[in-house]
Amino acid sequence: MAKPQVIVVGAGPVGLLAALALAKKDIPVLVLEAEPGLTVDLRAGTYHPPSLEMMAPYGITDEMLKTAIKVPRWQIRDRSDGVIAEWDVSLINDLTPYPYRLHLEQHRLTPIIYDKLKACANAEVRFLHAVTAVAQTADRVTVTAKTPNGDERIEAEWLVGADGGRSAVRKCAEVDFEGYTWPERFLVASTTDDYARHGYALNAYCSDPDEWVALFKMPDDGPPGLWRVIFPVPEDEDEALTLSEEMVEQRMQRFQPRAGRYPIKYKGIYKVHQRVAKDFRAGRVLLAGDAAHLNNPIGAFGLNGGIHDAFNLAGKLASVCRGEGDASLLDLYVRQRRTVNLEYVQEVSVRNLKRLSEKSDRERRKNFDSLRRQAATPDGQREFLLVSSMIASVRRADAIT
Ligand SMILES: Cc1cc2nc3c(=O)[nH]c(=O)nc-3n(C[C@H](O)[C@H](O)[C@H](O)COP(=O)(O)OP(=O)(O)OC[C@H]3O[C@@H](n4cnc5c(N)ncnc54)[C@H](O)[C@@H]3O)c2cc1C
Repeated sequence: MAKPQVIVVGAGPVGLLAALALAKKDIPVLVLEAEPGLTVDLRAGTYHPPSLEMMAPYGITDEMLKTAIKVPRWQIRDRSDGVIAEWDVSLINDLTPYPYRLHLEQHRLTPIIYDKLKACANAEVRFLHAVTAVAQTADRVTVTAKTPNGDERIEAEWLVGADGGRSAVRKCAEVDFEGYTWPERFLVASTTDDYARHGYALNAYCSDPDEWVALFKMPDDGPPGLWRVIFPVPEDEDEALTLSEEMVEQRMQRFQPRAGRYPIKYKGIYKVHQRVAKDFRAGRVLLAGDAAHLNNPIGAFGLNGGIHDAFNLAGKLASVCRGEGDASLLDLYVRQRRTVNLEYVQEVSVRNLKRLSEKSDRERRKNFDSLRRQAATPDGQREFLLVSSMIASVRRADAIT
């Protein structure tokens, strides 16, 4: 590979997509990843129409569609009252060729992107390269990576930090990560038991004043697929207790009683944050994805927002690298993506989680009435779907100059 013009830190979905988009625009790019291979954990799994549109020209969306599950209808429910509103994404089929939510675990997406990147002669991914330091001058950036052979220093013109929520790049660039961490954590469990037979849509958010639940049907290695179930975990509950077979079983049975134990294929516990980096640029260092922003997963905006960052940034950075545009284009990236993260991703994800966990009966009823009213008409559905499918946020970003 030629000397890299851009180094991307992190071979998560956002780093890989940014690298692929840069490589396809003839920019030599090097990806440094701390782990020995692509990571496998149960995080993002829902993709919205704009993300599918952005990945389509690279052949990624078609690859995803071979195994992913299309979810044209999804529900907001209440654990006591049942269905409050059902949203029909096909009502916006005039606005997108992908009028559905697409379900596919993040760890099934990254190998698809990685395969495409491996086919690019001007791109390379180096695993077991954990970035520990970043230095920059007026025209270069140098990263230090810890490798099995000792520290390595690598230079490029630009650096993209896509190294997740604990981003070393963000910390080295001394960019504040403003916001807060929710007191409750999220338990994620997956089971082969089928919730559709109880009337649940393939994606359903079930509110409850004591213990809300979110459900997602995901593809597995083969039939019957997996249902991913998310519960809130009180602040003071011991993590080992939360993850014990008994406690997982108790939560699953309390939500949907079943004769016999639930077959559990995976369980994990996650801290949840609402944070946005004070800037997405520090000179020659750019931030994207979780390195730049974190939000609770109710609404599935985290990775989708990161995908939108990756393509927005790669287009502008490629122009700057080729000398077609000046570095102020990168400030436009920040204005567009940081603004919509604050105005949209943070605001709507917080609203979604609050609605799901609302304790006041009066407020719950008010929320239900307003959702029912909105879902009752095609215009109301459309207005809701434009926001929930992130089309509104992408339009808003595009309108910022
Ligand atoms: C329970 C849960 C459910 C979620 N569901 C959804 C969903 O349905 N839809 C959605 O859009 N989002 C969802 N999210 C959010 C989503 O998972 C993240 O937004 C997404 O993983 C961000 O991707 P990323 O590439 O920015 O970061 P990551 O996926 O965290 O990847 C960062 C990469 O950087 C590497 N790295 C870290 N430090 C270094 C270093 N110093 N040097 C080199 N490499 C390094 C890591 O090993 C990793 O490979 C969910 C999150 C959780 C917790």
